[in-house]
Amino acid sequence: MEQRRFYATSPYPIALYRRFLEQALAFRRCEIRPFTEASFGDGPRARLYVRHDIDTAACVANTPALLEIDRELGIPAAVYVRVDDEDYPAESCRAMVSRCHEIGLEVGLHTACYTHDDSFAAFSDELDKFTTLFGFSPLSFTMHGLGTKRQLERQDFCAKIIKSMKKYGLRFTDCRPEFRNYDYVIEDCHLEGGGSNQRFLYNDVYRIPKFFRPSRDYLFLTHPCYWT
Ligand SMILES: [Zn+2]
Repeated sequence: MEQRRFYATSPYPIALYRRFLEQALAFRRCEIRPFTEASFGDGPRARLYVRHDIDTAACVANTPALLEIDRELGIPAAVYVRVDDEDYPAESCRAMVSRCHEIGLEVGLHTACYTHDDSFAAFSDELDKFTTLFGFSPLSFTMHGLGTKRQLERQDFCAKIIKSMKKYGLRFTDCRPEFRNYDYVIEDCHLEGGGSNQRFLYNDVYRIPKFFRPSRDYLFLTHPCYWT
């Protein structure tokens, strides 16, 4: 695997987001697939999935700009929103969620339910709240990470939830390799050391990695707050 190198600290120009996707579309070795599709074994190309995690109020504000690029380029991305009201009121996502539906993008739940002692009760409450707020039940979810905080609880929740997906009306998550096992994740939220809390990305966003291999799954994960 070629050595990745530091490329830029956030915020990143949105032109870089577009540039990455245009490269991916032109790269014959890979294809961008709908985020929630089931794994389908062997294929002639690498499979790249695009996921937006809406972590903060700044993410809510910046998401429409990324969505317009997804729409223009026909990227089958998926958007994951929180309903825990911790960093933004869930209601503030309503317009963005409708826009996703207009352009045919999947919207699901982004959850940190494992921070509660009864993570399943919290998860169930979040699913209900999501349904009430947005008018449909989520079919997929992703996990909101908090570094090493309650890591064991998080792993435990993921291991259990994948056995009860149907019970919760869910079809897909990428939190366990049973559903999808990423060979490599390109993300915009690498954390600089030294307690600066500064986020950065590697040159894997500037130049799409050459090491993508057929039949393997790759993720391009964004947090729209870092893009302007
Ligand atoms: Zn998150």
